[in-house]
Amino acid sequence: MREIDIPCSECGTELAERVVFTADLPVETGWRGSVRVAECPSCGARYYPRQTVAQLAGRSSGTRPRGEG
Ligand SMILES: [Zn+2]
Repeated sequence: MREIDIPCSECGTELAERVVFTADLPVETGWRGSVRVAECPSCGARYYPRQTVAQLAGRSSGTRPRGEG
């Protein structure tokens, strides 16, 4: 059950799942800790699974994503 099943849109290489700290990401977020990302081992492109995006969007703010379910 993985969301990371898509190939890299840049070069088509299969993505690898990695865990990174939000402090290392070029985004501002209230989420502290680590999140899962999909990283291309070939060109280094990064992709963010929906769950990770939801975390970065502010899980502690109390807002819920629309259209869930
Ligand atoms: Zn790539």
